[in-house]
Amino acid sequence: MIDGKWVEARSGRQIETVNPATGRSLCSIAQGDATDVDLAVAAARRAFEGEWSRWTPHQRRKLILKVHDVIIDHFDELALIETLDMGAPLSRTQGLKEWTSQVLQFFATQCDAATTSTAPNSLPGQFLTLKHLAPVGVVGGIIPWNGPLIGLWWIFGPALATGCTAVLKPAEDASLSVLRVAELMVEAGVPDGVINVVTGYGADAGQALAEHKDVDRIAFTGSTGTAQSIIRASVGNFKRLQLELGGKSPDIVFADADLDKAVPGAAMGVYTNSGQVCVAGTRILVQRSIHDEFVERMKEFTKTIRVGDGLDPNTQLGPLISERQLERVMHYINLGGGEGARLASGGTRLGGELAAGFFVEPTVFAGATNDMTIAREEIFGPVASVIPFDDIDDALQIANDTPFGLAGGVWTRNLSTAHKVSQGIKAGTIWVNCYGVLDPAVGFGGTKMSGYGWKGAREHVEGYLYPKAVYINLD
Ligand code: NAD
Repeated sequence: MIDGKWVEARSGRQIETVNPATGRSLCSIAQGDATDVDLAVAAARRAFEGEWSRWTPHQRRKLILKVHDVIIDHFDELALIETLDMGAPLSRTQGLKEWTSQVLQFFATQCDAATTSTAPNSLPGQFLTLKHLAPVGVVGGIIPWNGPLIGLWWIFGPALATGCTAVLKPAEDASLSVLRVAELMVEAGVPDGVINVVTGYGADAGQALAEHKDVDRIAFTGSTGTAQSIIRASVGNFKRLQLELGGKSPDIVFADADLDKAVPGAAMGVYTNSGQVCVAGTRILVQRSIHDEFVERMKEFTKTIRVGDGLDPNTQLGPLISERQLERVMHYINLGGGEGARLASGGTRLGGELAAGFFVEPTVFAGATNDMTIAREEIFGPVASVIPFDDIDDALQIANDTPFGLAGGVWTRNLSTAHKVSQGIKAGTIWVNCYGVLDPAVGFGGTKMSGYGWKGAREHVEGYLYPKAVYINLD
């Protein structure tokens, strides 16, 4: 989708996209590369230099609210596309409707961010000093496959609110919902060239976007390794970067926690979206005195989770995105046993009716230690490692013994424990007696090797602006 129109990739090449629940082909999409990225960036630049970046806050707000209405009207269709393309069950994708409404309304409230204010000054003589916040220009977005219907708004939302323009490169495994959203946005009145989508592989379309000299900012969500390559590629014109990366988040359960809530809460903190969630609390740290009971209850809980084709409204967990991801997850499951953790539940690929899809049972490893590969590397599948700890200090030492810093959780009835642990975990988002809730007006982000740049809240929108001071000599 370039300049408001559907175009083939210039090379004519295509990528086949597969339904992960059946392993069968869904359709083909354009395999864009550097040539197509050039065309999209040129369209985005033309749109930015035209009227668009001078729209008033009122005009922008009206447009975002119109986009909101069109998207919400078509949400059942979008949820179905997402379920077919990336496997998440309808129970999850349809559930994103309310969140999408909230995120778009939030960005509608941010249309006054690109503003001018007066600043006090201490200059000799008479000066009026102004500060402008101006849109940075063309933004390149690169997103993963685990939730395109969420990820795209973190790029299109602030672009619409600030007057930037965008070229989005969705993941090759899950581009369909992004394409349909782009089409609906154009129908809703987003001017040509303001939002563009180039589908294709990371190594060519993604890399070309990260290198492009006429892209001013890259908003990237994905893996740490790809982020390192994007940092190198972006050096040519000092692009501004926002990097939202992976994690190995600790979810800490104290012996005084309400286990009726902590067991399902911590379990779904790992298994939601079949574990393909950046903030997944995959290291469940459990106080030693309740370790065995917790594992037993978690095992019982995993038996109640319904795994299957996402089109079935009763399904809670769908397949993994691809055969490649399935192999990666199975590799880690085999490693876990080999390194001495006890496989308490799950651990196998599902067969029978589901054999053609990429389904793995929710898996629990008990008695894990933090030096095991399953506790150190992001698996991005439904695999929990339960690690025993003795006291708060021990829990924090284990929790922070990771290169990542995306999120963390704590389950306790003790207020002081909750505060000490949430202050002690070095991560961007902490949940107390809950896991995974997210308000776009508050936002989230990472530290350490989970990246930088806040998503949501005013800080996110300000990342699409640059400050400019104006000194006016009144004499
Ligand atoms: P990935 O890094 O392989 O791919 C992400 C995107 O980058 C895809 O669109 C891909 O095509 C593109 N890409 C790949 N190589 C590229 C290159 N050299 N240059 C430019 N673009 C390139 O990640 P993935 O495996 O698809 O997604 C899973 C990862 O995303 C996990 O690490 C997960 O934690 C992370 N993630 C983070 C968040 C967050 O907000 N922190 C959210 C979702 C996912």
